[in-house]
Amino acid sequence: MAKVYNWHLGRSMHYPYEEKHPKSQFVAVFNINRCIACQTCTMACKSTWTFSKGQEHMWWNNVETKPYGGYPQFWDVKLLKLLREADPGGQTWAPHGKGAEAPYGEFEGRTIFEAAPDGEAALGYLPEDKEWRFPNLYEDTSTRYLNPGVMGFSKEGERLPEHKTWFFYLQRLCNHCTYPACLAACPRKALYKRPEDGIVLLDQNRCRGYRKCMLACPYKKTIHNTETRITEKCVACYPRIEGRDPLSQGQPMETRCMAVCPGQIRLQGLVKLGRGGKWAEDRYNPLYYLVRVAKVALPLYPQFGTEPNVYYIPPRWVPRDYLRQMFGPGVDQAIERYAHPDRELLAVLQLFRKSQLILFRYEIQKGPKVFETLRNGKKFELYDDLIIGYGKDGREIVRTRVEEPLYMRPKERLNSI
Ligand code: SF4
Ligand code: SF4
Ligand code: SF4
Repeated sequence: MAKVYNWHLGRSMHYPYEEKHPKSQFVAVFNINRCIACQTCTMACKSTWTFSKGQEHMWWNNVETKPYGGYPQFWDVKLLKLLREADPGGQTWAPHGKGAEAPYGEFEGRTIFEAAPDGEAALGYLPEDKEWRFPNLYEDTSTRYLNPGVMGFSKEGERLPEHKTWFFYLQRLCNHCTYPACLAACPRKALYKRPEDGIVLLDQNRCRGYRKCMLACPYKKTIHNTETRITEKCVACYPRIEGRDPLSQGQPMETRCMAVCPGQIRLQGLVKLGRGGKWAEDRYNPLYYLVRVAKVALPLYPQFGTEPNVYYIPPRWVPRDYLRQMFGPGVDQAIERYAHPDRELLAVLQLFRKSQLILFRYEIQKGPKVFETLRNGKKFELYDDLIIGYGKDGREIVRTRVEEPLYMRPKERLNSI
């Protein structure tokens, strides 16, 4: 196996192929705190890509209720158990080594590649057919719901920082990983990572349905078509990314699942990669800012080792131990930052879902202070700053303010909706 650098782990790791990186990388940030589990994203993907025979169980995008939900069922619990058995007591993080290329510290344990059994590219498992049957089992099931007689709420009420009774929604799609396990495992070399944008695609002409990718993908995001007997996966709506959607007039456009989100929790775009696959300094790209500067958005299960490119702003109310296992050691800092946002973070958060076009740069023009209060004992000031977002060609796409505008309904329409 070759040695490659994984900045989520803060160290080099083993991977079956030599390091090779695209010019830019498809990246998304999801704000879990705002998701309402409406499944609009899920249905947008389904109605665009997976409505044919043999694709009935295919949900390239799904939203599951944690801690019990998962599609396929218990996908993460099962892999975490396998990793714990392969690396007893080893799945820990060392706090040292923090810096630009190790922002979360250093992972001391073994990744799925390093814990791979002989003859396999990665440690994994093949879900049984029955585990694909219910895409949203345990929806809205809180931690106490399973205790008889408690009915999912705490009599004492809930308080931050951690609720005693809790659940949250986890939005999932292929992470278009930097080191894809699906690609590493495919004996037919049917999976490839595009050099222009890092999107991971599956060539259906090469695939023979061996399902090695399904076994290896830790997120279980390649799915077998029961009619064609070959495997399929999220295509990152690549025609939209390429600006080929007629609506975009040639400009890169966000994917279907991102663009439809009524909760306004999703922001997706492209980040530039420099030498060795490092994120090139691009301070005013909103995704670069959220992940690398504010560090408010974190990778899902970074310890698996694939360097996933979908990042999550963790939910504020969930027990920290659970979140640290899911998003790594950056959780406490990310929640602190989100709970006490500064002017810049508040402004950038306004860009979510203001346009279907991909934003490549933002600019903030300072406005007046409009509000001041104490939040968890800390002073909080709200400024009505103006934030402007620009597209690939430098054209202005979005212009919005931090303070939500108030619209007065005209008198003659007072009763209309
Ligand atoms: S569309 Fe947005 S708010 Fe609705 S489930 Fe999907 S991510 Fe959550
Ligand atoms: S999430 Fe899975 S299917 Fe997607 S690129 Fe990563 S390993 Fe491959
Ligand atoms: S990016 Fe496109 S193909 Fe992938 S899950 Fe979202 S809508 Fe589906």
